[in-house]
Amino acid sequence: MNDNNGINSPRAATFAQKFLLVTEKCAKKFVGFFGLGNSEVTVTLSKIKGRLKKSIRPAALEGIDICVAEHCNMACYSCNHFSQLAEPVFADLAETERDLKRLSELSGGNIQSIMLVGGEPLLNPELPEFMRVARQYFPGSRIQIITNGLLLLAQKDVFWESAKKYNIVMTPTKYPGINWEKIEERADTFGYKFDYFGFTENSEKVSRKFCLDLTGSQNIKKSFMRCPLAFCTVGLDKGRLATCSFVFSMKHFNRYFNQNVPVTEADSIDIYKAKDMQEIIDFLNSPIPLCRFCKSMGTEIVGEWRKSEKTIDEWT
Ligand code: SF4
Repeated sequence: MNDNNGINSPRAATFAQKFLLVTEKCAKKFVGFFGLGNSEVTVTLSKIKGRLKKSIRPAALEGIDICVAEHCNMACYSCNHFSQLAEPVFADLAETERDLKRLSELSGGNIQSIMLVGGEPLLNPELPEFMRVARQYFPGSRIQIITNGLLLLAQKDVFWESAKKYNIVMTPTKYPGINWEKIEERADTFGYKFDYFGFTENSEKVSRKFCLDLTGSQNIKKSFMRCPLAFCTVGLDKGRLATCSFVFSMKHFNRYFNQNVPVTEADSIDIYKAKDMQEIIDFLNSPIPLCRFCKSMGTEIVGEWRKSEKTIDEWT
């Protein structure tokens, strides 16, 4: 049982989850239509969504992120994966396949969305194989690749053919200065339409600040409740699930800046030791010790998209 004192009846939770999903889609359309993608309206909506989501005790997990490449070919200000600080490392395909099999058994294949993320996922030469195993174990899920799009034009036919065969949704972030028309033309030849990330199709990309408190003196429950990443960017890594991307990527920040923000086993759950999916969901929908170190997670817009200078003040 999570300690958020929310909706606990499975039927009410399923209804609330579906209601939330429909409301989210409508809100996205509304915000896109009125070009409010970069405004305080979006920030407020995402805060409300995060709070509502945490007040439900769902019986099914909404989604998981698999980081198939830790590093990135872009360097964005205050990246919440610390990808611009990461050494080049790819996810292990066999290990990921084992983990997906275990999660498929635990959930009955009922995880709504599987996201292949990074860093930049297109850097991983085995990406078509990751598409295959994700689809094999989650035949009914929405499987997405979240990419900055820089490498889309360079992809060989096998990439597009696999994406089509395994029904993968391509979700590029529409960064400025990229020839999207040409990329869309190439995608079109394979019958592809993109589902652009967030509001980047209609609004210019902005930079946000993910701000840490290196003294670790934040209230974990408050940090968790106001955090838009918590229970929304659930990460899978080496047989463990964590409620946010920070848990598995904090090592890059620690290494690059010679810091020691502590990440322990208490921040994630072992999917092989958990007795069932509900135990995992309850864990993911509860604060973790690392929340002590988070001040404001991406809710502060700092202006139009900018490059990272890789200095510690981008996160402090
Ligand atoms: S550690 Fe807690 S507050 Fe920080 S990003 Fe993760 S869930 Fe959010």
